[in-house]
Formats: sequence, structure tokens, C-alpha cells
Amino acid sequence: MTLPYEWNPMPHTLDVRCPSCGEPAYFEFAEIARIREKKDIPFFQENDQFDYLLCKDSCGHRWHAAVYYAGLHGRTVDTIRELPEGYERSDWAHSKYLYRGSGLDSGSVTCPSCCLHRRHDLQWPHNAFFQVEFKRELLWAFNLESAIELRDYITSPNRDRSGYKWRSFLMKIPKKFLLQGARDTVSKRLEKIIAQYQNGSNKSVVATADKPASSLRSGRL
Ligand SMILES: [Zn+2]
Repeated sequence: MTLPYEWNPMPHTLDVRCPSCGEPAYFEFAEIARIREKKDIPFFQENDQFDYLLCKDSCGHRWHAAVYYAGLHGRTVDTIRELPEGYERSDWAHSKYLYRGSGLDSGSVTCPSCCLHRRHDLQWPHNAFFQVEFKRELLWAFNLESAIELRDYITSPNRDRSGYKWRSFLMKIPKKFLLQGARDTVSKRLEKIIAQYQNGSNKSVVATADKPASSLRSGRL
């Protein structure tokens, strides 16, 4: 699928539409760490807090990894019960940066409406909760905070992004959403989803946001 505009890098957590009921849900990326010693492999294979993965690097060398889904364990690495010698819980902590580096597309989804709580392979921007369609193209945001900044940026008369936390994301917004003729419609649609998220979602959000990105014409910046 060709995506409407560049969506990497992403933050560690996202607001998504629940894959089961369509209501607002929370997605958190899993973190992967290398298993350094062969003797440690059985620990990670048998431990119910980790998934074991056999990976291959670009040269074809195999390496062993342990994957941890913080979203399934209280959204923290502090609940990791035990580790072999030489490993720290922080080996599976998210980086301190706003955006994550490379990593897995896997994570977990948690839905307060239907209590879904499981592993989920992200499909972006199809899973985005904050998405609006305009002239058969999709505009989306990572989460509530970036959606609010996106709305403010679209409606602002100037294009200075220096005061925005999500400025590198705003930088990638295709110009067609920012043009005079688009601003009003786009910002109103965005505002509607923001309000519905803030007031508790309802089914009309799902109805407007339920079109898969693949059905939309895609274009790049
Ligand atoms: Zn749900």
C-alpha cells in the first residue's frame, strides 16, 4: 500500500480505532532487545512476559531477540519480574525521545469500551483514530495532542512551526490540506473528531473514519 504521506518515525504510543469495536483505543509499540548469550535463550522462550524471536540481519546473520509488550504489563518495564544476569529492565524501555527509532510494527492495543487487550500489528494510517478524508486523501494525526496541534496549525494564518511540539510531523502535512480552500473544511472535520474523542466517542466517528486508507487515492509530497 502506498501511504498518503510519510508516517515514520512514530511516537511510542498512538490513539487508534479499536480493531474490534471501533471506539477510541490505545496502541503501544513493543520493544525488542538482543539476547546476548545462547544460554539465556530458554529463559526468554519460557517466560510468559516475553516473546522470543529469531531474527536475521541484512547480511543474513541470525540473532536471538526478546520482545516485551509494555502495554500488556501495566505500560511499564517495572513489572518485569525477573531477568537473567546481565540484563536490565530498561533494555526494553522506550527511548526518551518523542519519536522512536527503528523497531517492530508490533505492539498492543487496549480498548476501554470493549475491554480488548491484546497484541496487535499496527496498520497505519488505517488504524489512526484521528483521520479525516478530504478530496479522497487522508489526513491523520498520531494522538489527541498532535491532532489538536494539527487543527491549530491548519487554521493559523502563519506557517511558523517553531512553537509546536509536533513540528516535525506538521512539516510533512501535504500543502493541499493547508490551502485557503481546504482549511475550513479540513479543520472542521478534525475538530469534530477531537470533540467526539474528548466527549466520549460515538458511532458517527467510526462511520466517518472507517474507510481504509487503501481506498483513497494516494500522493506524495
Ligand atoms: Zn473496543
